[in-house]
Amino acid sequence: MDRTSARPPDNHVHTRYSWDTPGTSTMRRACERAVAEGLPAIAFTEHLDFTVWLDEDRATAEGLVDRHPAQQTPIDVEAYAAELEECRDRFPELRIWSGVETGEPHLFAASIAEHLRRAPVDRVLGSLHSLADEGRLVGVTRLLWSDPAGTMRRYLAEVVDMIESSDVFQVLAHCDFPRRYWPGGAHTYVEKDFEEEYRAVFRALASSGRALEINTSSPLASADQIRWFHEEGGEAVSFGSDAHQPERVGDRFDLAVDVVEAAGFRPGRDRFDFWRR
Ligand SMILES: [Zn+2]
Ligand SMILES: [Zn+2]
Repeated sequence: MDRTSARPPDNHVHTRYSWDTPGTSTMRRACERAVAEGLPAIAFTEHLDFTVWLDEDRATAEGLVDRHPAQQTPIDVEAYAAELEECRDRFPELRIWSGVETGEPHLFAASIAEHLRRAPVDRVLGSLHSLADEGRLVGVTRLLWSDPAGTMRRYLAEVVDMIESSDVFQVLAHCDFPRRYWPGGAHTYVEKDFEEEYRAVFRALASSGRALEINTSSPLASADQIRWFHEEGGEAVSFGSDAHQPERVGDRFDLAVDVVEAAGFRPGRDRFDFWRR
């Protein structure tokens, strides 16, 4: 079978509406790339990170006072919606979803709910990028250097907490995000050393019926890792390039499809669905 006809949707793409993405990363260019790659659909999941939060947020209850670093800025929801509509008109052959990538959603439930009331979206991803450290939320890569294995275990335990205490997200994004920045190089990271911690994450995710993302910006998950999710009862897998530049949309999807297939998942109900067991 022609590979392009089997390619899944890219459920994790950033454009210039994300605070860490260049102004040249337009939705139009991302859509052009998605069409060229033969993808059936694309989701624009911009970063939703808070540097100021509400009294009702758990971050407040936990005594967190700020974020470090704190260069995160809000999404311009009006401009975002206008450009998305324009792309839907321009690319009728492509299904285009709105979305957000929520950072630490378990700590910001009230702030996220308020945002989504104003600007509802089709896809919500859940991500952990930061951990609490002496009253601040600190980017996890900053904590990794002093104690890689300890930080990784703490990270994966926090992901379990995030899954169990937040139901706002449909897909768990890059479940082992710190591997990207592993001291000594991402290639020296050994998944197997954290198998029990991964399995705890996957059990929690599976019991809530939500999808695990295979993220192709991160060093690719092994078929073993995705199989642990399958063995723990995982039902659905989502593909995400996590592109911050249009030319990365759908990046390495053929490889990711092979990994997910080897772990026991198959295309879902239609081309737009998650892959399923
Ligand atoms: Zn992320
Ligand atoms: Zn992302």
